[in-house]
Amino acid sequence: MISYTKAPIQELKSQLFEQMAVRVLVKREDLNHPFISGNKWWKLKYNLEEAKALNCDTLLTFGGAYSNHIYATAAAAKEGGFKCIGIIRGEKVQPLNSTLAFAESCGMKLHYVSREAYRQKIESSFIQNLQDQFGNFFLIPEGGTNELAVKGVAEFALLLIEETEFDYLCLPVGTGGTMAGIVVQLAGKKKIIGYSALKGGSFLNNEIKKFGGDAFSNWRIEEAYHFGGYAKTDKVLGDFMKDAEGKHHLLLDQVYTGKMLFGVFDQINKGLFNKGSTILVLHTGGLRGRIKLEDN
Ligand SMILES: *Cc1c(COP(=O)(O)O)cnc(C)c1O
Repeated sequence: MISYTKAPIQELKSQLFEQMAVRVLVKREDLNHPFISGNKWWKLKYNLEEAKALNCDTLLTFGGAYSNHIYATAAAAKEGGFKCIGIIRGEKVQPLNSTLAFAESCGMKLHYVSREAYRQKIESSFIQNLQDQFGNFFLIPEGGTNELAVKGVAEFALLLIEETEFDYLCLPVGTGGTMAGIVVQLAGKKKIIGYSALKGGSFLNNEIKKFGGDAFSNWRIEEAYHFGGYAKTDKVLGDFMKDAEGKHHLLLDQVYTGKMLFGVFDQINKGLFNKGSTILVLHTGGLRGRIKLEDN
């Protein structure tokens, strides 16, 4: 229903990797679609199919003003021929930032709710209220994480193990939906390491268990690379990202992929990956998050 381009795998070269005897590959899933990029494509795939199967012509979802999920859902709705409503946390700020301006240009109707109201977004009374206001819709939760998202990412993981050999799979984690899909599909094979983009990311362990990860123990969440919290950044991270861009021609975002790759390199440096192993890094996209910094 939404177009897809098979993304390449890029090998990174550095003296450090030679010294530590590891190979580092990056699955450039950021290149899979110009607007619905990275993991968001896979998280949306079966949600869109389900909405269509239910004959529901309107998608409704939630997010902050800089949400990659809002951006991707707006683009997917447009391409899939759906109407779309975005419930945005906080007050409307004019002019719209690039994420919301793009969402609106795709036809997403933006509806702003206070931070207090937003916190009730999963309560049935809140959702009933939205139904009274907007009529029937297919609800996709904040960040897009639900069973259908996990199913989509699991399909991605299946293609990935058919495509290439690896020992470790490293990826950034926000809500845990993407990591859950990978953990479930790999079913105990390989080692999966998630890098929390948020401070206090230990709750993510439960999220991943909830979506089927409790059956396996070959995964863990690293909590030391949040750089002060979600979307927080500093010079060390900025310099690292510039360096990655210069040396490896690899564009990263400072919310997710920059922090994750920093963590991977740091742990290679510390000798935490077995010698002789191949580390596959998942570029989950999100380059909108980078543009955001330049906006402000
Ligand atoms: C949304 C997002 C994530 C987080 O995915 P979850 O499934 O919520 O853990 C990671 N990377 C990028 C670039 C994203 O946009």
